[in-house]
Amino acid sequence: MNDEASPVKGLLISPIRSGTVIDHITAGEALNVLKILGITGSTTESLSVATNVASHRMEKKDIVKIENRELRKEEVDRIALIAPQAKINIIREYLVVEKKGVEIPKILRGVVRCPNPGCITNTNEPVESTFEVLEKGLHCLYCDWWIKTDIAGHII
Ligand SMILES: [Zn+2]
Repeated sequence: MNDEASPVKGLLISPIRSGTVIDHITAGEALNVLKILGITGSTTESLSVATNVASHRMEKKDIVKIENRELRKEEVDRIALIAPQAKINIIREYLVVEKKGVEIPKILRGVVRCPNPGCITNTNEPVESTFEVLEKGLHCLYCDWWIKTDIAGHII
């Protein structure tokens, strides 16, 4: 690593005082990660997003930093659907106080929308979408439909 490269690297991964850093996100999925966490363009949270960062482990990766918010395990586990290698770092006073991986949850409630327009979860009934996560994809527990591709595109 030469000196010239250091400032650039420092810019991309500049430290935050407290909050959450989600590292090793699958390249290109950072915006979907924000969507999963319910962070939209109108959010008041202070965010940094870096995409397609060079990584030794993954070749390219995305990084998301959210200041002043510590994500709960249930929140970050949803991220595993689209970024199974993601690592969560909880930061307090510039120190990493907790590091955790993501685990794919067995059941997803209210996370993805069922593609079947006739599914009860797409009617006016107050029924939350519920999918079981299986090897083959996501399986709707109400109407038996499957989501096997573009999971991110179905996220509510
Ligand atoms: Zn359904």
